[in-house]
Amino acid sequence: MNAADVRPRLHRYLKDLCLPTVRQCVDTACEEAGREGLSYDQFLADLLEREIEVRLQHRIERLLQEARLPLQKSFSTFDLVRLPTRVIQQITTLRDGSFLDRRENVLAFGNPGSGKTHLLCALCQELARKGRRVLYTSCSLLVQELLAAKRDLTLSRLLKRLGRYDALLLDDLGYVQQTREEMEVLFTLLAERYERGSVLVTSNLPFSAWDSIFKDAMTTAAAIDRLVHHSVILELNLPSYRMQHASSTSLSSEAVPPADRVTEVTQQARAEENVKCE
Ligand code: ADP
Ligand code: MG
Repeated sequence: MNAADVRPRLHRYLKDLCLPTVRQCVDTACEEAGREGLSYDQFLADLLEREIEVRLQHRIERLLQEARLPLQKSFSTFDLVRLPTRVIQQITTLRDGSFLDRRENVLAFGNPGSGKTHLLCALCQELARKGRRVLYTSCSLLVQELLAAKRDLTLSRLLKRLGRYDALLLDDLGYVQQTREEMEVLFTLLAERYERGSVLVTSNLPFSAWDSIFKDAMTTAAAIDRLVHHSVILELNLPSYRMQHASSTSLSSEAVPPADRVTEVTQQARAEENVKCE
């Protein structure tokens, strides 16, 4: 049988086996292999490698889409030097993603504008790019979804769906005052995920103010207990990036050299490093 007969068969088989990249590349790859005198195993390995690369790329695109992350908040647009040294060390460790395998939580505290949301979004985006399933949601939006599901008697289905994520990033816990019923569903979610999947939380409120979130002392203690048991706590005791950025732009005519600004901000951050969140 000559090559002309084989090719259509080959394309049909590759289609049936759902190997679209191999199918797309096979003609050129065959010619190249002939020209370069590649061995059979080398030829096959190269071709399958391309299929795997493209699949991985598609998987990452899907993961990023389902993560609902604001993609502009990445490490490439984040000034890490601004953070306290301890937080830089913690983030360096978190970036390998092994905390997800240990089902550990990450809690970021600090003033509004200190970079909590940006930092945790950047971390989650990097983890999604490494193939992890993550979901970003504002805490108040998630609470509304949970509550609607409870009313529709579909709460356990929603919890099961959320359970498929390696990480849930709940942004701004305690920012919007919630009713007792709303907080109960949030507590149910936290209890459900305890030691089953990581939760990443940002909050402007220190633990001592969480009574106002969970409404009573018992539930507050139980929620904190579950979140903190296996967790990394990031304390971003920093001035607002927005405020500082706004004042540095308005002072730009005073020509503050960027390197000096970084040192100044870093020194300030270092000085504030010991001021702990309660
Ligand atoms: P928070 O969640 O603590 O209130 P955000 O993460 O929303 O703060 O940050 C406020 C704004 O400042 C955002 O636009 C964010 O991108 C920016 N920002 C904060 N910290 C940094 C940083 N270290 N580098 C670059 N941009 C930052
Ligand atoms: Mg925020």
